[in-house]
Amino acid sequence: THFGFKTVEKQQKASMVAEVFHSVAGKYDLMNDLMSMGIHRLWKRFTIDCSGVRPGHKVLDLAGGTGDLAAKFSRLVGEQGEVVLADINNAMLRVGRDKLRDKGILGNVDYVQANAECLPFPDNHFDLITIAFGLRNVTDKDKALASMLRVLKPGGRLLVLEFSKPEFDALSKVYDLYSFHLLPKMGKLVANDSESYQYLAESIRMHPDQETLKAMMEGAGFEQVTYHNLTGGIVALHRGFKF
Ligand code: SAM
Repeated sequence: THFGFKTVEKQQKASMVAEVFHSVAGKYDLMNDLMSMGIHRLWKRFTIDCSGVRPGHKVLDLAGGTGDLAAKFSRLVGEQGEVVLADINNAMLRVGRDKLRDKGILGNVDYVQANAECLPFPDNHFDLITIAFGLRNVTDKDKALASMLRVLKPGGRLLVLEFSKPEFDALSKVYDLYSFHLLPKMGKLVANDSESYQYLAESIRMHPDQETLKAMMEGAGFEQVTYHNLTGGIVALHRGFKF
């Protein structure tokens, strides 16, 4: 029912995600570099390399936050192209917009506050959609994937960069220690906010593994879905097409 348990639970998750990203926005980039020891830059570089993006393309960087990917796409699509940096959180969007403007990126990037579950764009519009470290925060992932498929052009591709399941047990153990013990402590020390980083560690553990996400993308209607493990499967890049 409308006021049933599920609805309440979903609303709680949505508002918690909003609160977390509101409180981390100002320190997000610094924390990203610290927590991943800079490696997130390589994961993002790999994503760009797999994007197949060309001048004139229309790109949606969904849950784009502070705009690392959008900044790179802006250069690659050129003046004829279009990049939309979309995020549900206006604090993250604002940090992203300021950062891109500081880098001199002006002409071809739009900033849109939007929920991945119901994208406010026309059908068959984008050549490429990226969602980096965003899908795990989305409450209804199937709904979000369906929405992405709708706004993608036939022939277009979706890239999902996300935490996944480490390939080896030993790595898994070290990684759990790191994310459940060290990460919240770093959050406390640098951002004075251990709760947000506790949430991040939990959301990473809850996120679907490689095969599950692949099946979810196929279930939503994406084709030729493949994935590539990065850093031993701590992160994976999934790719799917709309035909
Ligand atoms: N893509 C950026 C990056 O890789 O650095 C930011 C990733 S950050 C960990 C996750 C982002 O997802 C946050 O900016 C958050 O506001 C956004 N987000 C969470 N739920 C969302 C939703 N339902 N729709 C759109 N964005 C969402």
